[in-house]
Amino acid sequence: MKTFLLASLALTLAASAADKIKVLIVDGQNNHDWKMTTPVLKAIMEEPGIFAVEVSTAPGGAAVEAWQPKFSDYAVVISNYNGHLWSAATQEAFEKFVSGGGGFVSVHAADNAFPEWKAYNEMIGVGGWGGRNEKSGPYLRLREGKWTFDTTPGGGGSHGSQHEFVLNNHAPAHPVMAGLPTAFMHRQDELYNRLRGPAKDVTVLASAMSPKDKGGSGEEEPLLMAIPFGKGRVFHTALGHGAEAVHCVAFAVTLQRGAEWAATGKVTQKVPADFPDDKASKARP
Ligand code: ZN
Repeated sequence: MKTFLLASLALTLAASAADKIKVLIVDGQNNHDWKMTTPVLKAIMEEPGIFAVEVSTAPGGAAVEAWQPKFSDYAVVISNYNGHLWSAATQEAFEKFVSGGGGFVSVHAADNAFPEWKAYNEMIGVGGWGGRNEKSGPYLRLREGKWTFDTTPGGGGSHGSQHEFVLNNHAPAHPVMAGLPTAFMHRQDELYNRLRGPAKDVTVLASAMSPKDKGGSGEEEPLLMAIPFGKGRVFHTALGHGAEAVHCVAFAVTLQRGAEWAATGKVTQKVPADFPDDKASKARP
């Protein structure tokens, strides 16, 4: 009897592990402290109990050209990578993975990566630094309640001094944002501004005012975005610079929801009761 119970328990556990959404976090090169942030991203993703999370750490410098993770083994790839260009074979495998229906989540400086890789820039919609300018595509600017293209010449990517800021929910009907408040506070972070890129079919999920008195643009800046790429889905979070930013309920919940949506097109997670309002940010362990 005991053996039977253990065997059926083992079967149940095996089945639930197989049902989990397979997530691959990629890192290994970044102008940010990826060795600190990746374990936090992993813990955030493991929290809801619906994801099975693995990490692939690319080797440094040009040695990354030999790195070939098997993207197709996963439902969603989360990038915490900003560094040397991947090999042509790895780029091709990644494009095939996403266009074939895979999910991709770009975290913070991952949108600084690969200015020269056309398909990657289509996936992230907009990006910054790396020589990005008007040739990369327009800025996304909120005018009379609508996101519009601004083709004004100028650099792509900047930020002022770090601070806490309110995220404004622009897509309450989108699976990622459904049930989240109209506005909610994010912990201290870099508020990226003046990102630009192909910006094709970008749904801005949330933005924040980038204040001029903190060195910002004086514009609502898109910071959470949903972008289609072939049959695949991309969730772009420009949040997550450092320790305060990643140990934040607003960051964690939007990452968990964004990753599930990118993987499956749906979000089954409930919004936690302690989700912040627009008055005070909430730290997480
Ligand atoms: Zn940063």
